[in-house]
Formats: sequence, C-alpha cells, structure tokens
Amino acid sequence: MKCTLLLTRQCNLQCKYCYVGKNNASMPIEHARQIVDLVYQRAPDDEHIDFAFFGGEPLIEFEKLRLITEIIEQHPKYDPDQVRLTLVTNGTIFNDAIAEFVSAHQIALGISCDGPEDVHDMFRQYPGGKGSSKKVENTIRNALDSLPNVMVNAVYRPETIHALPKTIDYFSELGVKQIYLSPDFSAPWTEQHASNLEDIYSEIGDRYVEFYKHNDSHFISLIDSKIAVILRGGYAPQERCRMGTGELAFTPDGAIYPCERLVGNTDQDTRHCIGHIDDHTAMIPVESLGLNGDSQPGCAICSLKDYCMNWCGCTNYFGTGSYKRVSPFLCASERASIHVAMNVFQKLENEMEGIFYDHASSSPLINSACAMACQSQ
Ligand code: SF4
Ligand code: SF4
Repeated sequence: MKCTLLLTRQCNLQCKYCYVGKNNASMPIEHARQIVDLVYQRAPDDEHIDFAFFGGEPLIEFEKLRLITEIIEQHPKYDPDQVRLTLVTNGTIFNDAIAEFVSAHQIALGISCDGPEDVHDMFRQYPGGKGSSKKVENTIRNALDSLPNVMVNAVYRPETIHALPKTIDYFSELGVKQIYLSPDFSAPWTEQHASNLEDIYSEIGDRYVEFYKHNDSHFISLIDSKIAVILRGGYAPQERCRMGTGELAFTPDGAIYPCERLVGNTDQDTRHCIGHIDDHTAMIPVESLGLNGDSQPGCAICSLKDYCMNWCGCTNYFGTGSYKRVSPFLCASERASIHVAMNVFQKLENEMEGIFYDHASSSPLINSACAMACQSQ
C-alpha cells in the first residue's frame, strides 16, 4: 500500500512542467495523524506500507516531516519490517541535519534531477528563470557521501529525450547507482518521437550492459523493472495500478486522491478527489469519477500485454483523458523498453552464462510500479 503525503504546496522552484498547484498551504499535524491512522487501519496485515513525503518541496517543512515520521514510527501498528519511508525532494534544500535524520530513520531519498546542466535547467528553474542544476548536483554528491539509499529521478520530454544516454553517463560519473527515468506523459509527443524511442532506449541498454560487464551494475528503471517482470512472467496483481485502494494521496487540506499525480493544480481542482480525511468513510470508488473510458482494443491480443504498464491510470489520464485508454506514446514506450530489456537480458545471459540470471531474478516485486515515476519533484 502506498500513501503519499503532500506536506506542503509551497515550493522554492517553478519547474515548467510541474502539475502541483502552489500556495502556502501546509499539512496540519492533526491531519497527518488522521491519515496515518487511516492507512494503518486499511492496510492488510501482510502488506508493506510505503509512506512517501512529497510536495511542493517537502523539505521546506522539515520540522513537520520529523514530527510525522515520529507519528508513523510510534503508532501501535508500526512494524519496521513492513513500513518503508520515502522522501522525494527537488534537491535544492539539504544539510547535515537532514542527512542525519534521513539516515537515522532509513528514509529512502529520491532526488529529482533531469540530467546535466543544459538538460536540467531547461525546465527545473527558480522563479525568475535561474536554473537549479548546480545546487542539485551538489546535493546529489553530498547525499551519496552520507547516505546508503539515494535514487535519482529524471523526467524527460520531447525537448530532452535525445539526451537520455548523456544523462545516464552524467549520473554514472556522479556515482549514482539507482536511476529512474520518467517520461512526462502529458507532453506533446509525436509519431516521430515514438519511432525514435527504440534507438534511444537501445543506447541506454548498451550502457547498462557495459556497466554490468565492468562490475559496476546500475539500476536503470527502464531496463531493470522490465527484465524483472519478464522473468516473473508478467506483473503481479499487487504491482498493478490500485489507485484509490492500494494507493492514496493526501493534500495539505485533507483531501484524498487516488494517486499523487492526480492531486490537481489547485485545492479547487477536485476532478479526481475521492474524499476527505474528516469523513474517510464516505470515500467514493475511482470508477464513479466517470474517467474510465474504453481500454485500447489491441491490448487484449498483444503479445506484450503481461509486461506492459497499460494499466497505469494516471499515465493513461495524462495521455488520453481517460484512466483506461492508452496513449500511442505509452504503447510505443512500453514496446521499446520491453524489447530493449529482452535484448539486454539475452546479451548478458549469453556472455555471463547464468550469472546475470541470478542477479536479475533476485529483484524484488516493484513495491509500487510508479514508485518514482513522477514529474512533480
Ligand atoms: S504494448 Fe501497446 S498494445 Fe501491447 S499491451 Fe501495451 S499498450 Fe497495449
Ligand atoms: S516539479 Fe517539484 S520542485 Fe518543481 S516546481 Fe513542482 S513541486 Fe516544485
């Protein structure tokens, strides 16, 4: 079960593709307490719970983050083996106190960085237009020095997709080992972009192979998550989209959404709202929002359907306006990443004779397939 808390709608950046409406709202501690109670109450006993701190920029409210972490950890149902904490930050606020806290509470740190300076600064800017790259790079270096679990998430768009291989090189040179790549599905993708995807993803696949052969393996979401899914014979039911049941997001004012990517541009944008923490017993099913358009008919007979994320409601919504209808870009991206993952697997299996199989098949279930796939942050 994944629960995302938007600690605040404040942010010190003004990224051009951001979908979170900004104002001064921050989550009252009482709301946080109610949310934590609700999530512990709803999560089945045998299920892991992922609490994610999100924003706006959550580190603007570092003191609240401390208090809410205590609320989570002091809850009678807290079990350190079942609860995972994640903090997703824009990488512009970081210091020793934050590093110590994150380390002491084993919080997985996700830093948003779109790549080298010319790529990152195209979209991730301070109000006024100054790029945030230098600051973010510095945070990545410091975080890698002091923390064991640092992930970097790069959003790509039509303007930056060609630079993805360069972005992988940049992260690798910085020492980043866990790299998430997330397309902005709401961007104006064209057929031309879709037809270039396999070449670009293949270049990333080549880097993955070289890293592995030189004993320097990297987790690259595009490749690793697909190889793991292929080896398991398809996505497990608990990995598929469970928006509104296994996945909930909470805004500072206590509104409940089926996924953090659907929280809307303002508190008044309630298109995807399914309830409020003050009366969570009245939560409505996602189906009643009227956004479940027809599925793509071709998916039913597609040979790749078990490995495809055509079920991701928010991705579909941003591409087509319906939780169920797949966009041509998603279809092309899934096809390309599945083919590239298969090629990488084949290549490494042939060369490493079984060693790579052991490495790839030990991959755990993807806790939430969309763990870092988010363009806010
Ligand atoms: S690859 Fe395309 S057609 Fe096949 S299941 Fe995925 S979205 Fe549907
Ligand atoms: S994408 Fe994240 S960091 Fe950028 S403006 Fe939006 S909330 Fe702030």
